Amino acid sequence: MNYRYRIYPDTTQQEILSEWLETCRKAYNYALRELKDWCNSRKCLVDRCSLTQEYIIPANVPFPSEVNQLNALPKAKKVFPRLGEVPSQVLQQAIKQFHKAWENFQKRGFGFPRFKKYGIVKSLLFPQFKESPVTGNSILLPKIGSIAINLHRPIPEGFAVKQVRILKKADIWYASINIQCDVSVPDPRPHGHPIGVDVGLKNFLATSDGVLVKPPKFFRKMQSKLKLLQRRLNRKKQRYKNYEKQRLKVARMHHRIDNTRKDFHFKRAHALCESADTIFMEYLDFTVMAKGFLGKHMLDGGFGQFRSIVNYVCWKQGKFFGEVNSRGTSQECPECGATVKKDLKVRVHQCPECGYTTDRDVASGQVIRNLRNSPD
Ligand SMILES: [Zn+2]
Repeated sequence: MNYRYRIYPDTTQQEILSEWLETCRKAYNYALRELKDWCNSRKCLVDRCSLTQEYIIPANVPFPSEVNQLNALPKAKKVFPRLGEVPSQVLQQAIKQFHKAWENFQKRGFGFPRFKKYGIVKSLLFPQFKESPVTGNSILLPKIGSIAINLHRPIPEGFAVKQVRILKKADIWYASINIQCDVSVPDPRPHGHPIGVDVGLKNFLATSDGVLVKPPKFFRKMQSKLKLLQRRLNRKKQRYKNYEKQRLKVARMHHRIDNTRKDFHFKRAHALCESADTIFMEYLDFTVMAKGFLGKHMLDGGFGQFRSIVNYVCWKQGKFFGEVNSRGTSQECPECGATVKKDLKVRVHQCPECGYTTDRDVASGQVIRNLRNSPD
């Protein structure tokens, strides 16, 4: 479980943390550069060289793997003393993160890792703690000392702090504390009252019980406010004081929208868990969907986040969460299984075979619920 708390580093601490973020970003970029150079140096054709330039790295230089790069860190610290200022484990995490991105690219066909621009790196991961760093109203971190923390809810008994991630959102700092309990909890099995949940744009969600939730209106308002702020930012000259001020306003607005959306998602997820014991949602590859016909709106809704929040709330409350593969749920009749073709404009499901009539999204939810016994 992750608990997130607001922390209040003083001005010097903020400067140190910002510097660490910057150093980690540079380490990440350096690791990427090294790997890119190595790859390029092995691209040359055997019988000819490029006319403009050629990367030359001796043939016996090993591939800059994760282990090799991690082992090179102590040496690098002597050349670049700045590296030594960051806690070594935090720095190692930056390299590890890069190799994770590289692995994802190689094995799963994700994008090639990119160089990170200034200000893009926004979190530091402290991967290990011998004893809980949280005492009273402060959190103790290596090389920086104790930072004031707002423990708005206590860390529960029997849980140990495993990792701490320091996050910077706009100008606000957080500590996301990963806590683990040694007692294993059995995974719940499907039981009790089942519902199927369909998410979409017209209705944020529709359940097989007929509950419809409209997408909240306040997002529209906040989005247009964001657009306004963004437009003002575009008129300012970069690297000037007023630009920085305006940039902070934009970042704060983004942060507020994220928080509001998350809050909305949690409330909906809790409501779902209260109404049922077993929840099914459709399995969708959201990255594919976002690229596809629904485009940006799909991401705006944050359906991926909503699904993982529902999963999390279910797990916490001992309810079962399941995913079903649902190609064409909107075309099927939940009562008789007949295929009823309808395009996106048609909002009502009306079956010509059995006469069953209901809201289109509710019908999808019911199909999802019915799918629960299917093999996948
Ligand atoms: Zn029917």
